[in-house]
Amino acid sequence: MAKNKNNCSFCGKSNDEVDMLISGMDAQICDACLEQAKIILESNSLHKKKSPASQKQPDKLPKPLEIKEFLDQYVIGQDEAKRVISVAVYNHYKRIAQPFNPKDASDVEIEKSNIILAGETGTGKTLLARTIARILHVPFCIADATVLTEAGYVGEDVENVLTRLLQAADYNVELAEKGIVFIDELDKIARKSDNPSITRDVSGEGVQQALLKLLEGSVVSVPPQGGRKHPEQRMIQVNTQNILFITGGAFDGIEKKIASRINAHVLGFKKDGEVENVDKNNLLQYIAPQDLKSYGLIPELVGRLPVLTYLEPLDKEALKLILTEPKNALVKQFVKLFDIDGIKLSFEEAALDYMVEKAIEFKLGARGLRSIIEAILTDSMFEMPSDTSKKKKELLITAQFAERKLSKTKLARLKAA
Ligand code: ADP
Repeated sequence: MAKNKNNCSFCGKSNDEVDMLISGMDAQICDACLEQAKIILESNSLHKKKSPASQKQPDKLPKPLEIKEFLDQYVIGQDEAKRVISVAVYNHYKRIAQPFNPKDASDVEIEKSNIILAGETGTGKTLLARTIARILHVPFCIADATVLTEAGYVGEDVENVLTRLLQAADYNVELAEKGIVFIDELDKIARKSDNPSITRDVSGEGVQQALLKLLEGSVVSVPPQGGRKHPEQRMIQVNTQNILFITGGAFDGIEKKIASRINAHVLGFKKDGEVENVDKNNLLQYIAPQDLKSYGLIPELVGRLPVLTYLEPLDKEALKLILTEPKNALVKQFVKLFDIDGIKLSFEEAALDYMVEKAIEFKLGARGLRSIIEAILTDSMFEMPSDTSKKKKELLITAQFAERKLSKTKLARLKAA
């Protein structure tokens, strides 16, 4: 290309075609090429850098019991899920530490233990996955399966899930390759009909097929800034072999599939040779891979997610504990926020009970507790910091106070819904 002071020396575009053209001694560069160069630099040099302090890996891998104890500090209840996840995660990172040697005929390849968490919304699935990443100091990201579509259709390409993981790892590819991805709403990409050929199911089975590629462990080309792939874009190669995928979903209505499977066993539902009394109020605890297949997940995907566990619905007692017990419990968070302004915030027991009742009434589960507490405290958070009177500031939340404040808010209208 002829040298021209009015053209970018990299892409050849003229001054008029670009937003900015920066001139050097003997060459010019436009803003778009500069941006592209920055990405290349980041992806090439950052992964050679040392891990950031926040993601320094622990010296030794915590044992399942230690992982569970850590989870207990942040997540209320869900004992079964915690035990299953602790073991799966421990095995996963043990596997990474002992790479398989294909040349050694006697070596055994340990397969990846990707996880499915089934449970109502707001019961702690995301919290469990996030907390696991926290104890292991590995990059973590959340992806929503509902926005993913098969390549070429409106929506996000499945590879964008890994863009987020790269970003969480500060573009350190090596770190990202040991990270954890939480894919939420897996149930929403279940096959819509039993006959896959009736219509093109781009947001269902198509996405499941695309996800398979990530879960299986392969080298995937990831656009560093997300968005659609295009030919000139430089891609980052990410190997998903050691990335742990935790998926979650409410699987509304799966109880029917579970019930019909259990009933199909004419001899009854057996555990350790004994006929077990089936707890009809919580059928999710009996969930098995074949139920996921009947629900519309393709068998290959179910096969790539071998660890299956469930979360219990949260009762009043659990919700109250969620308000006060975890290390970063909601009540503790607001006490701290008020404390920064020199205000001593406290709650009467009856006020806590009232908030729990409202969360159940609004059918918002633990997810609703935050909105409820925000609604009750907003007026005080607005007014009290500007109160310049000298007397020591205190705010005691009683059930009557909570009721008065909540009835004023839009949240109260949820009751009618
Ligand atoms: P899910 O992923 O199951 O829909 P989340 O994990 O996002 O639910 O939980 C929503 C909110 O409720 C979070 O703020 C979380 O802190 C709180 N929460 C839910 N379940 C629990 C639990 N078992 N223990 C503590 N907090 C919980």
